Amino acid sequence: MINKYILEAYKIFEGKELSKELIENLSEIKGEDVLDLISLANKVKNKYAEPMHVCTIMNVKSGMCNEDCKFCSQSLHNNADIERYSLSPKEQILEQAHKAFNYNIKSFALVTSGTGYRKANAEFNKIVESIDEVHNKVEGSRVCASIGFLSDETAKILAEHNISNYNINLQTSVDEYGNLIASTHTIFDRIETIKLLKKNGVKVCSGGIIGVGETIKNRIDMAYTLKELDVDVIPLNVLVPIKGTPMENRKQTDVYEIAKTFAIFRLINPTKIIKFAAGRETVMKDFQALLMLSGANGFLTGGYLTTRGRNSQEDQDFEQQLRMF
Ligand code: SF4
Repeated sequence: MINKYILEAYKIFEGKELSKELIENLSEIKGEDVLDLISLANKVKNKYAEPMHVCTIMNVKSGMCNEDCKFCSQSLHNNADIERYSLSPKEQILEQAHKAFNYNIKSFALVTSGTGYRKANAEFNKIVESIDEVHNKVEGSRVCASIGFLSDETAKILAEHNISNYNINLQTSVDEYGNLIASTHTIFDRIETIKLLKKNGVKVCSGGIIGVGETIKNRIDMAYTLKELDVDVIPLNVLVPIKGTPMENRKQTDVYEIAKTFAIFRLINPTKIIKFAAGRETVMKDFQALLMLSGANGFLTGGYLTTRGRNSQEDQDFEQQLRMF
């Protein structure tokens, strides 16, 4: 017997949007019914979303961030043992970009720690130079960035330099951001940057973290906020608890709760790229394929900021196998 709420959710294939009430009922599903929910999400992905989308990131500036995000190893408010360095030279960035494109990874993102660039200062201009360098020297390259809060001025400059996607995560729901994530800024700083990017015609990549102490309702709220903001790519991270951060001892969220979350994000955002980002190999290990079949159509490969991932060849094989479902 298929759960009645899952049966009702099949009306999504008639082009109907599912109500928030139905989504909340689906989020209560437990046990073997979760597999039916996952299967539905995978079918929705196949019907409405793009095929698999793989990207990689390079941490071009690490640590020394004044913000106090509780999960983050790079915050000066935390005591994580990480490598800290200032902005990487463009030659080093170009070398990494060549490596990524040799592995046929379509998108390469430059990531900096820090509050961001509301002024086009010298460091921002160097980042823009590196973006141009990769575009000019690596044929067919798609360069993305994740460099914090922007102003209209800096968002416009990035648009003029043909940035492919800009990542700035909401991390959690609007209601819980101050409690669960950070106190030195608000989620509205993030939302403002998203709106400025959209206004300037830049595609936005924005998602969040599962496992920071949020409820399933908070996750649903975040999924709806992302839908309202019409972001293009939704990266979902599973918390990697890092020693020296306030989240170091946080218990791992159960796999079936994470799978349900992926499925629900797909049902709320049927056409978007939903990308499994941090935590895929390091935390989810044996279950990463299950989560990839729960409605995701993308993943991040090749290591994330201060934690490491699998090698790119293994991930290329993984991607080929996933395309068969
Ligand atoms: S998530 Fe970004 S803004 Fe927050 S502490 Fe880390 S580097 Fe800074």
